[in-house]
Amino acid sequence: MSSASDHTAALIRENWLRVSEQVAQACADAGRPTASVQIVGVSKYVGPELAWQLSQAGCPLLGENRPQALWDKTEYFASQASPGQAAQWHLIGHLQRNKVKRTLPLISLLHSLDSQRLAEAVSQEAVAQGRVLPALLEVNVTQDKSKTGMDPGQVERLLSSQQQLPGIEVRGLMAMSSLEGNELTARREFEQVRELRDGLQARFSESLRLSELSMGMSGDFGPAIAAGATLVRIGSRLWQGV
Ligand SMILES: *Cc1c(COP(=O)(O)O)cnc(C)c1O
Repeated sequence: MSSASDHTAALIRENWLRVSEQVAQACADAGRPTASVQIVGVSKYVGPELAWQLSQAGCPLLGENRPQALWDKTEYFASQASPGQAAQWHLIGHLQRNKVKRTLPLISLLHSLDSQRLAEAVSQEAVAQGRVLPALLEVNVTQDKSKTGMDPGQVERLLSSQQQLPGIEVRGLMAMSSLEGNELTARREFEQVRELRDGLQARFSESLRLSELSMGMSGDFGPAIAAGATLVRIGSRLWQGV
C-alpha cells in the first residue's frame, strides 16, 4: 500500500538522483571530476518535512536563503528521532546583523557575506561563540543594480583587512548571474568571478585559500560548472512535481 507521502518521498528521491546525474554530466562535459562540485539542496520552497525527505534521499548539504526559515528547519531536523545521515546547513541569502547570534551555531558555511559591517558583526559573534566561521564573499559582477553583493573593490578591501576578522575564514566567492541573461552571458559572468578569485588568490596567497566558488542554480549550473563552480545551489529542479 502506498500513501501520498510515500509518493512524495519517491518523487524527491527521483529528483535528487536526476539532479545529481545532471551535475555529474556537467562536470564530465567540463573535464572535471564529479567530486569537485557539491550540490547545495535549496529547501526554501518547501517546509521542514520535505526538506527532511531530501536529506533522507541522500542530499547531505542544505541551503536556505532566510535565517528564520533556517532556524525552523534545523529545529525540525533536531527533533527527528533517528537522524540517519546528519545534514549540514548553509545560509545562502542575506543575514541581518540582529540574526547573526542565533544563526551562527546552525550553519557550516555562510555563502552571503555581503558587507564589511556584516563581516565585522559575524566575526565578533563567532569569536564570542568560540569558533571560526567559514564564509564566502558575495560579489556582484553583473550590471543588475538590484542584486546584492559587493563590488570587486569592496571584496579586495575586505580581504586586506582580514586580520581584523579573526572569527571568519574566507574560503572563496559566491555570485549569481544576471536575471535577464542567457547561457552565454551567464558563462561570461561566471568566468569573471573565477578570474576575480584567481587574482585575489595570487595577491593574498600567504594568508588565504580561496578554493570555493559558489555559483550556479537550477537554470545555469552548466555554465557555472564549466567556469569552475565548486558549490551549486539548486532549488526548483529538486522540487519538480512535489
Ligand atoms: C533560491 C535560490 C537559489 C536556488 O534557485 P533555483 O533557481 O530555484 O535553483 C540559489 N541561490 C540563492 C541565493 C537563492 O535564493
